[in-house]
Amino acid sequence: MDSLLQHSEGMNEERKESAQGETSGKEVHKTDLRSLSFDELEAALVSMGEKPFRARQIFSWLHAKQAADFSEMTDLSKSLRERLSRRFFLTVPQLVEVLISNLDGTRKYLFGLADGNVIESVWMEYRHGNSVCISTQVGCRMGCRFCASTLGGLVRNLTPGEMLGQVYQMGRLMGKRISNVVLMGSGEPFDNYENVVRFIRLITDERGLGLSARGITLSTCGLPDGIRRLAKEGLPVTLALSLHAPDDEKRRELMPIANKYSLKEVLPACDFYFEQTGRRVSFEYSLVSGVNDRKEEARALAALLSGRNCHVNLIPVNPVKERKYVRSGARTIDDFKNVLEKYEINATIRREMGRDINGACGQLRQSYRETHH
Ligand code: SAH
Repeated sequence: MDSLLQHSEGMNEERKESAQGETSGKEVHKTDLRSLSFDELEAALVSMGEKPFRARQIFSWLHAKQAADFSEMTDLSKSLRERLSRRFFLTVPQLVEVLISNLDGTRKYLFGLADGNVIESVWMEYRHGNSVCISTQVGCRMGCRFCASTLGGLVRNLTPGEMLGQVYQMGRLMGKRISNVVLMGSGEPFDNYENVVRFIRLITDERGLGLSARGITLSTCGLPDGIRRLAKEGLPVTLALSLHAPDDEKRRELMPIANKYSLKEVLPACDFYFEQTGRRVSFEYSLVSGVNDRKEEARALAALLSGRNCHVNLIPVNPVKERKYVRSGARTIDDFKNVLEKYEINATIRREMGRDINGACGQLRQSYRETHH
């Protein structure tokens, strides 16, 4: 099981490209401009002989106006734009496919990356605002039994620029404001910790988009070190723990990561997160018929969480065709919720978004891989 958590090499944030206008095939290293922090951007500009104030202007182009190309940065001189494009590149996920739900307007996007990988992201409209769900890795190596994202294993980490690119592209394509970002697409955010935290710092930076950190939810399968580390970053994002079972034995049936970390390690890390940030933790519980949806399991869950200031999201499992799991019936789900409420545990049944369009994590990418390989 150790191999599960060995750190994969983060994607090199530099890209090799043939230098433009050169016939020798000489390669130059370009840096992903959108992944740079404000201070790094400023330092890079100063090293190019530019005045520091340019950093504000360019940061705004990158994150507030969400430019897709240097040519859009019209208040910069042509020569500066050219010099920038020689040193840097912008990550812009390319639209490959979009599926639009007839039920609720949810849109599922398949985006192509520069290296040919595809990732999926979701657009959801709620009464309180527009929410996007993004991927943090190409594939995933956590192995959850009911999840399609993990079927082909982990391919690579996404860069901060590629995570931002998903949000900015959906915003541009829809022409609408985004108020919430959930890191609940493919991938385990804590398996790509540095890039994910950098993404959160960039998207919440007031010199750019300035999204409220409170509008961001990070969902994890339960890596205690990651949870504790995030608690100390000073970022008030909402933490969601994928629990899916009231005890270790049942959890291990569904989630291999539970062999590595028991609930005795994971739940105290969540408590620590609450203590440090004051943010109420959400627990995700996907209901699988006959596996984790009995009343006794609801009672065990209530006992496990009792005394915690928390919230349980009940999600009818989305059947993935490679897996045999079946969703619980509406009645069973209601009963489960009622038991939790009887024990004073807050619970909501997650409204299913985009059930008609491969709603579950990783399904769209999986079907794309099947037809293109
Ligand atoms: N790796 C992170 C985030 C990605 S998964 C995590 O494990 O939390 C986002 C959520 O969707 C998790 O709660 C995950 O368990 C759940 N999920 C994945 N596939 C699902 C499916 N087929 N049906 C219901 N929920 C699913």
